[in-house]
Amino acid sequence: MTFNDLQLLRNIQQALAEEGYEVPTPIQQQAIPIIKEGIDLVGCAQTGTGKTAAYLLPLLQTLKYAQGNEARCLILVPTKELVVQVERSLAVLATYTDLRWVALFGGIGPKAQIEKLQSGVDLIVATPGRFLELYSKGEIAVKKIKHIVLDECDRMMDMGFWPQLREVQEKLPQ
Ligand code: AMP
Repeated sequence: MTFNDLQLLRNIQQALAEEGYEVPTPIQQQAIPIIKEGIDLVGCAQTGTGKTAAYLLPLLQTLKYAQGNEARCLILVPTKELVVQVERSLAVLATYTDLRWVALFGGIGPKAQIEKLQSGVDLIVATPGRFLELYSKGEIAVKKIKHIVLDECDRMMDMGFWPQLREVQEKLPQ
């Protein structure tokens, strides 16, 4: 199977080619068609098997281009380090799109993150704690969120994030 078989948009395939991705990994082959259809999915794959791109590629394709000011996709991850890692993949894979995103994590002041939110974003990559903190300050509009990813969900559970994940879920549209 090739990325062409997965019917990804040309601007996404161009980024993949430049990054040297030639064939989709097994998790990508299996997950991308399902996510593209908008079907919920639980994926299990070891670190290093390409699972970040397995969800980013179909989501980028679905979101397509910058639209409005409010986020349409929320990616929750357990740690700041993973936020940074996901953002790095996003920057590569979305090179030839005009999609906008913000990375939200604690340990630094929220000013720059709030400014980015206010300037308009399509995706949010966040730790649950910082997401809820900025939501409670009224800085995050959630009405347009249609897609949610819980990356390393098992680790989030191990780290005791279950109550926060429930809280986030309650705030999102049905
Ligand atoms: P991940 O499992 O998401 O942490 O990805 C591990 C590494 O594999 C990252 O450095 C990606 O850039 C790389 N990668 C992801 N998908 C592919 C692919 N289809 N071909 C080659 N490298 C890939």
